[in-house]
Amino acid sequence: MITGTLITGTTQLLGVIGYPVEHSLSPVMHNAAIASLGVDYVYLPLPVSPENLATAIAGFSAIGLQGFNVTIPHKQTIMPLLSEVSDLAQAIGAVNTVYRTAEGWGGTNTDVTGFLAPLLDLQKSNLQENRLQNGTAVILGNGGAARAIVAGCHQLNYAQIQVVGRNAEKLQAFLKSWEKSALSANLTVHTWDKLPALLSQADLLVNTTPIGMYPQIDASPLTAAEMATLSAQAIVYDLIYRPRPTQFLQQAQAQGCTPIDGLEMLIQQGAAALALWLQDQRQRSIPVDIMRRSLLQQLGN
Ligand code: NAP
Repeated sequence: MITGTLITGTTQLLGVIGYPVEHSLSPVMHNAAIASLGVDYVYLPLPVSPENLATAIAGFSAIGLQGFNVTIPHKQTIMPLLSEVSDLAQAIGAVNTVYRTAEGWGGTNTDVTGFLAPLLDLQKSNLQENRLQNGTAVILGNGGAARAIVAGCHQLNYAQIQVVGRNAEKLQAFLKSWEKSALSANLTVHTWDKLPALLSQADLLVNTTPIGMYPQIDASPLTAAEMATLSAQAIVYDLIYRPRPTQFLQQAQAQGCTPIDGLEMLIQQGAAALALWLQDQRQRSIPVDIMRRSLLQQLGN
């Protein structure tokens, strides 16, 4: 059983900012890890409306907050308010983790680490090595999360990264935003009507749209007929973690593909953030199993 943290006068503050933030699962998994590590911290949900972002950040400095996660709608707008932004977060154009520096706040992005973790596990098991490198990744959606997935696919050396979206203008803006990056050579964008032609080449197919997320649990970004054109060797990755599995992953499983849901990404991006905040404060490694168990319990799995 996971016990709560005792909050005293010395307890240090961590948290997550978003608007709304009440559905965030981060407090559950971070406080479970904090209790297991026995460190004097607590992790709080911090609702911050867009017009209050700068005031809130200044207030966090004033009260000595040690670090925080950033979720919708602040992942981009927080960047000019930080003293330093990691190269990775700059390339992605979004910050999800903020930490203290001598000069002020520093920002980075742990979503790429989270996204890569289950793929690297597959690679370690040596089953999918050839499919990960030099292959073709097809990414559905071109919003905030898709940016981290593009960076992750580049790190995995995919030869082709094909992003599929429903809005041609947004797709062109997405492509342009990577212009100065080394990965732009491998990146192409496509409107949704081109998807059937792309699917048969996909070694990795990633859903970054919210299609199929609770409560729309019967929806999938692909029809069953489209999924049937996918190679059974392909990895199918859904960033959604509620429900588990999604309709999309059920279709993938029926096709014989390797399914991955979004829960491990959520856990591993959180573990990477906690490791950054607590680097000098802990004797043990981040208890990823405890974080996973707390989330499964919260999700009723
Ligand atoms: P976002 O910035 O709003 O992007 C969503 C993308 O999906 C946009 O490109 C949007 O297209 C597209 N889209 C939405 N509805 C669509 C539809 N009916 N048909 C086709 N395309 C559609 O959201 P995000 O931050 O990228 O998050 C996307 C999903 O990833 C969410 O389900 C979120 O929960 C999940 N996520 C999971 C993790 C994790 O750790 N597992 C982390 C981040 C995000 P338009 O731009 O044309 O509207």
